Amino acid sequence: MAELKRLSESRDLTRIERIGAHSHIRGLGLDSALEARAVSEGMVGQQSARKAAGLILQLIREGKIAGRAILLAGQPGTGKTAIAMGLAKSLGQETPFATVSGSELFSLEMSKTEALTQSFRRAIGVRIKEEAEIIEGEVVEITIDRPAAAGGSASGSGQSSSAFKTGKLTLKTTDMETVYDLGNKMIESLTKEKVQSGDVIALDKVSGKVTKLGRSIGRSRDYDAVGPHTKFVRCPEGELQKRKEVVHCVTLHEIDVINSRTQGFLALFTGDTGEIRSEVREQIDTKVAEWREEGKAEIVPGVLFIDEVHMLDIECFSFLNRALENDMAPILVIATNRGITTIRGTNYRSPHGIPPDFLDRLLIISTQPYTEEEIRKILDIRCEEEDVEMSKDAKVLLTKIGAETSLRYAINLITAAALACQKRRGKIVEMEDISRAYQLFLDVKRSTQYLMEYQSQYMFNEVPREVGEDE
Ligand code: ATP
Repeated sequence: MAELKRLSESRDLTRIERIGAHSHIRGLGLDSALEARAVSEGMVGQQSARKAAGLILQLIREGKIAGRAILLAGQPGTGKTAIAMGLAKSLGQETPFATVSGSELFSLEMSKTEALTQSFRRAIGVRIKEEAEIIEGEVVEITIDRPAAAGGSASGSGQSSSAFKTGKLTLKTTDMETVYDLGNKMIESLTKEKVQSGDVIALDKVSGKVTKLGRSIGRSRDYDAVGPHTKFVRCPEGELQKRKEVVHCVTLHEIDVINSRTQGFLALFTGDTGEIRSEVREQIDTKVAEWREEGKAEIVPGVLFIDEVHMLDIECFSFLNRALENDMAPILVIATNRGITTIRGTNYRSPHGIPPDFLDRLLIISTQPYTEEEIRKILDIRCEEEDVEMSKDAKVLLTKIGAETSLRYAINLITAAALACQKRRGKIVEMEDISRAYQLFLDVKRSTQYLMEYQSQYMFNEVPREVGEDE
């Protein structure tokens, strides 16, 4: 019983995690003439900003605006990130969309320009066309990890296969394609080896090297032929399908990581890529340029979204200025809720904390505060998204709270009120649940007021300021 309960608890937790702040956004909600519908694809109001974003979308699709930058500027909670998400959803899967927050660029593990370069290259796609024989069908994969003692030895004589931990799992058709997608190196090796139906191939997860082992993997020397952490994939027993042209879509960053000697392609999954040497990137750019000339590849400039762009400093802006000039540059969408403020790294103030020369190259889209009616509709959508049933009166109250405090605060109250309702074993969230949640959780205005009243009881307020001391 206890087991069951734990299981259902963990399932509920996953469900809560899945409902992200923007999970209700499915597109920009535009009609075929690029006019914004009042409520569509999870989007409400903000019509002129959505229309402007729609125009950008069209230009991206026509490949007309590589290397441009768009600024979404507006007060907090006015849907800047939501619009960027809507744009990403409308672009489709083939156009890369990378997102990064201004503050994320200042990590200890890599320089800010390296972090920016990686973000840029995550937003540049390469469509590689290839004539290849590919195999479709069910794939049987066996993952074998060598025990530590045997790990270093390459001789492996007398090593029995029972010494290896084996696990077995069956993957679906598309997973074979994932294997192909993992890297060009691998794809090349696979086609060179001309694998046959029923063959076993070993994929070295670290180097991406592929070794064909024939039809059996029972012999210990097979294990020794490849490194540790090797994935063995048995090609499907079944039909070999020939396809004339196979198209792989990868980002420049993925190619960088796969070809960087210090990181295996697994770094793509962990995100732990570290700095990538500039020579590696130069070689890749040269190779991609060759492929483009030979008609084997084309560049798909995607979108790089930098949220909280006021967190960037003057060096980052100068880097962006130059990076946008590259002929492979993606479309840059940046967002900020700051007014006139200091440009980080300088003593100068400017609109949004962005240097004037960079501001000058931006197309600016501004977002406006919502009306009460729009707030109600957004709250309606969020209730549906979170599976919360709410009475009409409760929604009116929540909308009022949203208009007086902020949209975000009202959205947050939905979950809290639903919990209050659950506690009193109710099915529908009523006004009393909303007021309970409202009393339990302060909004910014009430929290500030409370602080003003009780600040003397907080830490670091004990020492009164000296006369003439700086504020
Ligand atoms: P900040 O400046 O604080 O980063 P923001 O302008 O990026 O704020 P969002 O995070 O986009 O604001 O909006 C706050 C919440 O309201 C999110 O959950 C978002 O999905 C939702 N939201 C905002 N605008 C809309 C809209 N027009 N339609 C539907 N949902 C919206």
